Amino acid sequence: MEHVSLGSEAHVNDTMLRPDPRVSIVIPVFNEEAVLPLLLSRLRGVMDALPGGAEVWFVDDGSRDATARMIEQAHGEDARIKLVQLSRNFGHPAAITAGLDAAQGDAVVLMDADLQDPPELIPDMVELYRRGFDVVQARRSTREKESIFKRVTAWSFYRIMGRLTNNEIEANVGEFRLMSRAVVAALGQLRERHRLVRGLVSWVGFSHTTIGFVRPGRAAGETKYPLGKMLRLSADGLTSFSTAPLRVASFIGVGGLLAGLGYAVYAVYVRFWLRQAVAGWTSLVIINIFFSSLVLLCLGLVGEYVGRIFEEVKRRPLYLVRRKIDGAPAAAEGLGSERR
Ligand code: UDP
Ligand code: MG
Repeated sequence: MEHVSLGSEAHVNDTMLRPDPRVSIVIPVFNEEAVLPLLLSRLRGVMDALPGGAEVWFVDDGSRDATARMIEQAHGEDARIKLVQLSRNFGHPAAITAGLDAAQGDAVVLMDADLQDPPELIPDMVELYRRGFDVVQARRSTREKESIFKRVTAWSFYRIMGRLTNNEIEANVGEFRLMSRAVVAALGQLRERHRLVRGLVSWVGFSHTTIGFVRPGRAAGETKYPLGKMLRLSADGLTSFSTAPLRVASFIGVGGLLAGLGYAVYAVYVRFWLRQAVAGWTSLVIINIFFSSLVLLCLGLVGEYVGRIFEEVKRRPLYLVRRKIDGAPAAAEGLGSERR
């Protein structure tokens, strides 16, 4: 992976650059009415600064507040602002997928609604895209104003993922990134359910680069990622990219077996050489508890995977669209689920 700092290559020849792309900005929103006015005004400034033109695709992930209404109103004032409204809350990864499917641009930028991903970084990302990179990831250099708890959990997540998977997922890189049309098309072919989008982006390959930024705190509203959702996301990331947990089960099994064999030899020795009957109750209870829990643990692990296989084979759409507001005549729209 290469790391480029902007401005260090003044000699880059203009004719070698890609033309200014039309940029689609994809933003999943879930009950974000508090932050929307500020977000919209900052987005407008950024869109005006993009010479190739821009559109914003909001994906309303089943919000129960005024989010959809506010976006609809914004669309009335500025047709570049568009909306895919999902039929219910499908979760952040599915909402991202819906947005990627809707986006038309040559380059697609993914970002959060809460302005923790500053949109002002987009022109710099576009510049790197023009220099030939297909994925421009934004790496936060500090996590301002985030709780110690959030930092610790994020840090351990990246450590564990790095250890257990072959997939290179960079620490401190969220979903904030620019992707070329080619990468978005490749992602569109991956329709698995339990998806960690940044893992998939790393899986598809193409040329990646990283750009640093200081991540501010949430501009308004509450986090939509409580602990439960975060744990589930980590588990999805692990199980969809690694079978290491399955191997952990077998390692424990082998270890337990060896220990058991050792104990059996000892028991035979006590019985036949020392000619003592072993009182035995304590060890029986311990062994019983130990192996029952071991079996349960392994069963649970296998169950995790079986459950995910079950989810996959159902082949349900990743999301359902309730309506789409993009300024195109309504007749041109399909009945509105994902393709395939
Ligand atoms: N989000 C979503 N669906 C959900 C939860 C969150 O679309 O079920 C969106 C949310 O509106 C925001 C982004 O995902 O734009 C990231 O959420 P948040 O900022 O709350 O997460 P955090 O930064 O606290 O991890
Ligand atoms: Mg956030």
